[in-house]
Amino acid sequence: CGIVGYIGTEDVKEIILTGLQKLEYRGYDSAGIALYQDESDFEIFKDKGRIAHLRSILEDVPSTLGIGHTRWATHGEPNKVNSHPHTSSNERFVIVHNGVIENDDYLKEKYFSNVEFRSETDTEIVVELLNYYFNKYGAVDVAIRHLMNRLEGSYALGIIDRKNPEVLYAVKNKSPLLVGVGDGFNMIGSDAMAMLHRTNSFYDLEDQEYAVIKRDSIELYEITGAKLVKEPFTSNLDP
Ligand code: GLU
Repeated sequence: CGIVGYIGTEDVKEIILTGLQKLEYRGYDSAGIALYQDESDFEIFKDKGRIAHLRSILEDVPSTLGIGHTRWATHGEPNKVNSHPHTSSNERFVIVHNGVIENDDYLKEKYFSNVEFRSETDTEIVVELLNYYFNKYGAVDVAIRHLMNRLEGSYALGIIDRKNPEVLYAVKNKSPLLVGVGDGFNMIGSDAMAMLHRTNSFYDLEDQEYAVIKRDSIELYEITGAKLVKEPFTSNLDP
């Protein structure tokens, strides 16, 4: 299972598919991708099966921001509906998730007893809770911090806010996630392999850290909102 995300100026589709292919060795049962340009150009393609199958169902959507996922099902069988990306019920937030949320039943009962969830995944609760905190506090970064405080378990998240085509968010706890540093673009990925076709420079995200990533900047934060100062490392692995 794995995650790849990209924000830049090039067409995102091939960049993410190549990254997902590099993550195939981690094993997976489903794959999906969200392609995003602006309010009118947004599509999710996902299904049970291999990357080659995902490639075959993709349509051409102009997009310079995207997130992709290979799933190893833990909550709900491998099928199209349970595949990632998942969206909040109002369709505003879009996420991919690797890991396992341990208090999903509790969160569902406490916050969403009247919400009709579409999938059987723990992930859909994560994106609904993000949306809940966003509605409460009015800022995505604040919502992310509340989300991190509430979630128990492991999660590497890639998040798109459909109202803001300028930002890709990344959140990490106990599942691997790196931020790839580019020139005019930036990326996220579960490991360096997923990004080496575009960059060999990376920031390590530690547990309980998150990143606010734009085309020409990367900001890293602690769960408290305190800004982190880090140096990227260079990988000498072959692409
Ligand atoms: N727990 C999530 C699910 O079952 C994510 C699994 C994964 O890491 O791929 O959909």
